[in-house]
Amino acid sequence: LRTYGKAQVGIPETTWDDVGDLEEVKETINKYVIATMQRRDILEKLGIEPIHGILLFGPPGVGKTLVAKATANMLKANFIELNGAELARVGPERAAAVVKDVFNMARDNAPAIIFIDEIDSVAPPRDSPIGGVWSGVISQLLTEMDGIRGLNNVIVIAATNRPWFVDPALLRPGRFDKVIYIPPPNRDARHEIIRIHVKNAEVEEEAINWVAEVTEGYSGADLAALVREAKMRALDRVLSGDTNIRITREDFEYALGKVRPSLSKEVLNQY
Ligand code: ATP
Repeated sequence: LRTYGKAQVGIPETTWDDVGDLEEVKETINKYVIATMQRRDILEKLGIEPIHGILLFGPPGVGKTLVAKATANMLKANFIELNGAELARVGPERAAAVVKDVFNMARDNAPAIIFIDEIDSVAPPRDSPIGGVWSGVISQLLTEMDGIRGLNNVIVIAATNRPWFVDPALLRPGRFDKVIYIPPPNRDARHEIIRIHVKNAEVEEEAINWVAEVTEGYSGADLAALVREAKMRALDRVLSGDTNIRITREDFEYALGKVRPSLSKEVLNQY
């Protein structure tokens, strides 16, 4: 990755194989993004508008960032990341300038994907109590989104846990008009995510089945943390003389005591 101003520019190493489950999401993105960036001719013949903005929404830690990075990797496109919450901290005036810079940066480094995480932090509905503060940033975003319409090599992916708190003008046709829900993982999805995170390590298959079953409410990020804890427990065991180098169900039981699920019913009912 090259550093460009404050933001890093480069092709991410994350691939679709690193993203557990979410088959539908992968297919939708593959279809629209590849058509927009690589098969504009087909879109034109069919009279389909190209996609320039995708809004990923869903609970925290379910893989929105991973999906954005894997998309960039698939396209061998530069990935330019902007965090809405961090951007909000510099204040609305500077934030609008940063947005402008980032879009310029994307044009200079095309093919490029701009990823704006937590976009709600800088683009809340303009008629909400804090909306007025951010109207300059929202206008800048709208201008920039309209400005890349003619390009086939810059796509913006935004993510939010609060899609209802994003200014509706951003969701109109030609802007973030592809809105994709990233759901919390069900049992099979959790199984896949755990598999990805244990990767080449030796694990008792029965242990993975069991953990996938008992981790309702765990996000992908929670599961990644759980696997890390289980591995550390196995390491401790082996360093103190245990000869079983596989990750066991007991290691996971210990990890479950340390890592709690972050997706409560209350959180999930919002979506
Ligand atoms: P936030 O809303 O908090 O920004 P997010 O939805 O963008 O979260 P990510 O940052 O993509 O979530 O996920 C955090 C970490 O959790 C990832 O780096 C990965 O280790 C793990 N993870 C989350 N979802 C998945 C998944 N579907 N497959 C594999 N790993 C996952």
